[in-house]
Amino acid sequence: MIVESSPDRVRKQVREARRAGRHIGVVPTMGALHEGHVSLMEAACRDGMFTVATIFVNPAQFGPGEDFDRYPRTPDDDLARCMTAGADLVFTPETGAMYLPDAATTVTVSGLTDVLEGALRPGHFDGVTTIVAKLFHITEPDRAYFGQKDYQQQLIIRRMVRDLNFGLEVVTCPTVREPDGLAMSSRNRYLTPDERRRALILHRALLLAETLAADSTHSPASIERRMKDLMTAEPGVSVDYAVVADRETLQPLSVRPAAAVALIAARVGATRLIDNGILQFR
Ligand code: AMP
Repeated sequence: MIVESSPDRVRKQVREARRAGRHIGVVPTMGALHEGHVSLMEAACRDGMFTVATIFVNPAQFGPGEDFDRYPRTPDDDLARCMTAGADLVFTPETGAMYLPDAATTVTVSGLTDVLEGALRPGHFDGVTTIVAKLFHITEPDRAYFGQKDYQQQLIIRRMVRDLNFGLEVVTCPTVREPDGLAMSSRNRYLTPDERRRALILHRALLLAETLAADSTHSPASIERRMKDLMTAEPGVSVDYAVVADRETLQPLSVRPAAAVALIAARVGATRLIDNGILQFR
């Protein structure tokens, strides 16, 4: 496994791999790697890709007052996990190599970024799409692997890829969960043992939504209410949103569709967690 911090040298490495007949798969991450990240690298390896994991805590996607400074950084453990997962190359750029002081270009996807995470974290998705576009230009992948865990993010990246003619395929991999259902997240390590127990309410709310969707009497709005009520009743949990939305546009649904996505964001103590699940209506 090659570990490389220089964008130019990474480009050379992937071009060499391509000349040797390999396809390139990229897995962008912010490190503090867990089984969720590993599952993306494993998917790329299974697909036969020359697998490039990128590890970069991207300052541009954190708002003022968010957790950039204390975001977990576990470089040694990260490299060990990349190695076990079968990554061929790990790109670990310095901030100064990714953002020149006079950089004047930002990638913005409109519409999809106006709602949910985009509405609550102004500028967040501009930070995401700009860094991901840069990572795509540096690694020139055939496929890019993202987690369903960040549902809105993968939709926005798909739109960017389509609108800007990036010649690559976006692959969305299922959310990896702890045995008790909590979606794996680098931020889970902020939780106290008590908060860790309370955080299970997010997954319970999604399971409730799935059950209600399968029962023909519940509208999207009533499912949203029930998810909110369940989570609000949990002490120490405050709900940012709990919605049932169109899977492609993230717009609210007035009538029962065939399928939808339930999306949740909540604070458990001081830690903000997100989760989602696909709902099948009957
Ligand atoms: P992050 O390091 O949080 O920016 O995440 C990097 C990538 O890993 C993103 O595509 C996430 O959606 C994905 N990811 C994070 N958590 C999970 C999880 N529990 N299951 C699957 N993918 C995940």
